[in-house]
Amino acid sequence: MPKITPAPRAASHLFYQSRLRRPLVDRAEGIYLWDQAGNRYIDGSSGAMVVNIGHGNRHVIETMKKQLDKVTFAYRLHFENEPAEDLARRISTYMPAGMDKVFFVSGGSEAVESCLKFARQYALAIGQSRRWKVISRFPSYHGGTLGALAVTGYAALTDPFRPMMKEMPSIPAPTAYLDRDNFSMEERGLRYADKLEEAILAEGPEEVLAFIMEPIGGASTGALVAPDSYYSRVREICDRYGVLLIHDEVMSGVGRTGKFLGGDHWNCRPDLIALSKGFGSGYSPLGAMVAPSRMVQPVLDHGGFQHGYTYAGNPLACAAGGAVLDEIERHDLVGNAAAMGELLKAELVALAARYPFIGDVRGKGLLLAAEFVSDKSTMRPLPKEKNAFQRVVDIAYDKGLIIYSRRTRGGVEGDHFLVCPPMIITRDEIVEIANMLDDTLR
Ligand code: PMP
Repeated sequence: MPKITPAPRAASHLFYQSRLRRPLVDRAEGIYLWDQAGNRYIDGSSGAMVVNIGHGNRHVIETMKKQLDKVTFAYRLHFENEPAEDLARRISTYMPAGMDKVFFVSGGSEAVESCLKFARQYALAIGQSRRWKVISRFPSYHGGTLGALAVTGYAALTDPFRPMMKEMPSIPAPTAYLDRDNFSMEERGLRYADKLEEAILAEGPEEVLAFIMEPIGGASTGALVAPDSYYSRVREICDRYGVLLIHDEVMSGVGRTGKFLGGDHWNCRPDLIALSKGFGSGYSPLGAMVAPSRMVQPVLDHGGFQHGYTYAGNPLACAAGGAVLDEIERHDLVGNAAAMGELLKAELVALAARYPFIGDVRGKGLLLAAEFVSDKSTMRPLPKEKNAFQRVVDIAYDKGLIIYSRRTRGGVEGDHFLVCPPMIITRDEIVEIANMLDDTLR
């Protein structure tokens, strides 16, 4: 069991109350990190679903070194650069048909913010200037900037800033697994999707610009997957009212769920996609908004997209992104995420059978979560005072396993933890994680 040496409080520390025991990181390789005292940790959540291809990848590092020697920054208004052009071309081949325009940014919040601002400018360009409201779900997380936060359904993060720039409407996330009624899962999926229609009608369809959702939930909902019927009904409703569908694929994108995009499991046809995290895989801040030409052209004709970030599309970040994509392709890491995800899910299901306080295991590929309950039949959550979401992280930490946890689900409290190791993970390492989790839960 590693002895955690707390890092000294430093000026650069997060202003964050919990997990004061975080040690100083020293180095990392594959799925492992070491602290300065020499303790080894399994990166069981890939940071925050970031380091998809694992740490210390030599190909990415060598590619970045070569790029460092050439040019690291050239302002996009002054120069185009080849790594950005190449990456844009390559990433668009993984996107749904027609989504061929890539707008680079440096992170998830910027990607979401860009989707929101682009949607506004698109509405203006096609003469629908009254549309401005963006419906989101609760719980959800879409970023820390004020615009992205305004469409985030997470009271602990939004309350300190209320009133938001403008209060935006939201609907419940489709926590169909919690419902105790006579409806089938498919019917529940439709009923959750219909809440979007109710919200659009209540807000006034002529004022609703977009609906934003994660196709497979990340941290806020704990890998929430909706019933299949949800996805096509959401698309139908958006089409019916001319509402744009924005997919936040910041966590679920770039292979983590066993398909390149989380939405690929259902052929969802979003209008805009936000990517980040696994796109740069932790080697460089990198993100993108992806849009179809049919939407970009009207905006260009109307005077261009009045929006941008200084570091967006810089050659170093894009070279890193290209090398990450090389590794994903060369080693079929998307296929590995699907196969290893099945194994890990089976291990989690086995743990759930053994421990009465695990009520649900869910997710796809290597975006998996388990939820704590005090009663499996009612799915009643553990009392808040148990602080389960924090304790599981701390105990796992002491055993050398890093996981990610949250206390949110639907409209009620509930604790879950996510297990989302890098996509390079092997069978033996899955078993090692499962044993450590077993130890932790015991
Ligand atoms: N969207 C989702 C779904 C996320 O999980 C996150 C980060 N956790 C963001 C957006 C914001 O990304 P970033 O922290 O890189 O700005």
